[in-house]
Amino acid sequence: MDVFIEEGRIAWLAVTGERVPIGAHRLHDAGESILTPGLIDGHVHLSGTPGLPEDDAPASIGLREVYRRQAARSFLYHGFTAVVDLNHLDRDDIAWFSKQPLHPDIFHCGTGITMANGYPMVWLPENERLRTYSNYVVDETVPDGVDAAAHSPDAAVGRIVESGAVATKLFWESGFGRHRDLPTPSHEMVAEIVALSGDAGLPVIAHANSYSAHRFLAGTDIDMTAHGIWNWRGLEAETGVPPEIGEVLDAYVARDIGLMPTMRVVEGLRDMFHPAFLDAPALAKVLPDEVVAWYATEPAGFLREEIRADDFGGVSDEAAHARFGVVADQGARVVRAFLERGGRLVFGSDTPSAPTYGNPPGLNGYLELRALAAAGVPLEQLFVTATLGTARAFRLEGYGDVKSGYVANLLLLEESPLDSVDAWNSIEFVIQNGALVERETLAASE
Ligand SMILES: [Zn+2]
Repeated sequence: MDVFIEEGRIAWLAVTGERVPIGAHRLHDAGESILTPGLIDGHVHLSGTPGLPEDDAPASIGLREVYRRQAARSFLYHGFTAVVDLNHLDRDDIAWFSKQPLHPDIFHCGTGITMANGYPMVWLPENERLRTYSNYVVDETVPDGVDAAAHSPDAAVGRIVESGAVATKLFWESGFGRHRDLPTPSHEMVAEIVALSGDAGLPVIAHANSYSAHRFLAGTDIDMTAHGIWNWRGLEAETGVPPEIGEVLDAYVARDIGLMPTMRVVEGLRDMFHPAFLDAPALAKVLPDEVVAWYATEPAGFLREEIRADDFGGVSDEAAHARFGVVADQGARVVRAFLERGGRLVFGSDTPSAPTYGNPPGLNGYLELRALAAAGVPLEQLFVTATLGTARAFRLEGYGDVKSGYVANLLLLEESPLDSVDAWNSIEFVIQNGALVERETLAASE
């Protein structure tokens, strides 16, 4: 086929040579390459500079700057031509990414709806919480000095619509670790947020990763979850999933609620306990050398040591790696059980999900594809999920397919992604808004 591109969009498709208008020029002869739509990562956080120092020392600022410059290119390096920022706290970050010479198309959900003093703001110092997670809602407990009317579901969804968001992000998390029994939105409140978002044409995506949070969401009309179910909280099953989780999955299928497994949340923590991870050649493609060198320093390993000490009682790398392996396997079993029921997956890598160097930009999305394939997602389904399926879930018109009128975000691969998941790493060229970019020119180093 010939694919005609005009002003960044696919104008039409035709059998080779059949319909070539005067003045058309050949952008590229794809030869035997495989043409696919660009991948869409439905869960990134562009303001994240994972594991880098956050102070104002010139060296720290410089490190964050080189990280971000490369991050914009690294998403493209791995074929992610569009990303959805789920919960951005600083609008300047998105503006900054949008000004980079090469970057994926960026969509966002505005600032996610949280409960006042709930997850995730409770991890911040008390005087910063409400300011940082400004789009919070209140129930009958109204913090001092807060205008309840300005923090109703109506006001919160209004702010999201105003910000140009493509979806509403909502947090449902009762806590873990140091913070438990946190306030969570009621059924009534979620129903109101879903209805208000629906009126504005926005799907609702909800944060949840524990069984209890998913059990709550299974009784709502949200459109999709932002995570899988890897935290079973005491439930057990020798094979498959515990019946309680099976019931949640049945409800998701019945209500057509999409599941975004985000396998890399657990795998990215697990990779910190794999000493060879920082030496992987794939990492050097997506991160500048000075960033990789920083990750090998002692202060960069603070999260790893915190988890080792607080959660695992000071165990060895091998033991911590194995513990995370059990949790990752629970997430994988949920994916299989969901697919057996005919569930609808949505693709998202959650890059970065924590201050971990285990979620490198772009590469993390490729590793998510691999993790889903390893969990048992058939390659054809994976292909559709990471392109058209995710475009549809977020209602991104003109994305995720190779059709006339669609945005010309395309990939040329050496191998077919229907033969092997490795094919997603055989990209030769990325076509971003109609511009042809040779993959290797996007790499951090050769
Ligand atoms: Zn996230």
